[in-house]
Amino acid sequence: MTPTPTAARHLVRPDIAALDGYVPGEQPQGGDWIKLNTNENPYAPSPAVARALAAAAAGRTLAKYPDPLATVFRRRAAEVLGIDPDWILCGNGSDDLLTILVRAFVGAGECLRMPYPSYILYRTLAGIQGAECDEFRYARDWSLADGFAAPRTASGADVKLAIIANPNSPSGTLLPPARIRELADRLPCALVVDEAYGDFADTHCLDLVKENERVIVTRSFSKSYALAGLRFGFAVAQPHVVEQLLKVKDSYNCDALSIAAATAAIDDQAWLTDNRAKIVATRRRLTDAMRGLGYDAVDSQANFVWCTHPERPHRPVYEALKQRGILIRFMNYAGWGDGLRITVGTDDEIDAFLSVMKTI
Ligand SMILES: *Cc1c(COP(=O)(O)O)cnc(C)c1O
Repeated sequence: MTPTPTAARHLVRPDIAALDGYVPGEQPQGGDWIKLNTNENPYAPSPAVARALAAAAAGRTLAKYPDPLATVFRRRAAEVLGIDPDWILCGNGSDDLLTILVRAFVGAGECLRMPYPSYILYRTLAGIQGAECDEFRYARDWSLADGFAAPRTASGADVKLAIIANPNSPSGTLLPPARIRELADRLPCALVVDEAYGDFADTHCLDLVKENERVIVTRSFSKSYALAGLRFGFAVAQPHVVEQLLKVKDSYNCDALSIAAATAAIDDQAWLTDNRAKIVATRRRLTDAMRGLGYDAVDSQANFVWCTHPERPHRPVYEALKQRGILIRFMNYAGWGDGLRITVGTDDEIDAFLSVMKTI
């Protein structure tokens, strides 16, 4: 007998049955797409990564369980960041760290606060906990009012965790560390600063972690280190906070290959500096060209640019590009509006994108 899909709804918790699962951007497997839709880095990672992977795959390394704490990575990352290794918690991508954080801080009936529009996964993670997600709107200039730090929601739920993507997606905008500090001081709970795009920005919030035990920063290897396929990220928090989070993570959440590869990647800071310079230069060119085509393109601190057109509808542009083998992200935020999020590709990819845009 073939089970009917609806029957499963009665097997799972009502919270889960009611949930809209998170839908990632399109990841076509195969084909000759120009992918400007999920903020991957268009360049190959540091060559040191392939060497580290080959070494880790040889011999008996893979026969053993990996180090649960990814100690070699934490030692090297701590040197690069100027902190101690016990301030670092590693994860299977920063999505894994966000899952650990929400599970650790937010219980059923409590509340997770996030700005809107931002990374939709936070909402899904709150839903899995049976928690409320309070989405507080950015102002039209992408600033965030003090109300973001209110201790309770309108319905009376206690805010137990706030998460701000900084730089934000889809806008690419950055709240300065001084503003993050003010919000952290006012909030009644921990504040996660999701710096998945932090390496492309002018500033970051690592110093706030040292000042305030309630600030936690997360970083990803998917964007700035060109390792989205590897799945590795880390969080920076005060050691006694890390100690609590360790109880929540899976024992072996990072595999031996990803630990070796991420250690080689963070060791090659020259690669990061060079890659960042290329992305920032192409980002400038893409922003100016979109403005030349009549779009409002927001100045970005990330590896993508958020564009809206004052008159023309956005979805047909996304569709016309797709027909020509170019994927960008069409986003429609209820109560806010829609727009196009374009990842900064190579110069050739952006040239191909712009030449199609001129014909649409
Ligand atoms: C891409 C992204 C992540 C996820 O990063 P992974 O390390 O690939 O899990 C987290 N937060 C934001 C805002 C992102 O855009």
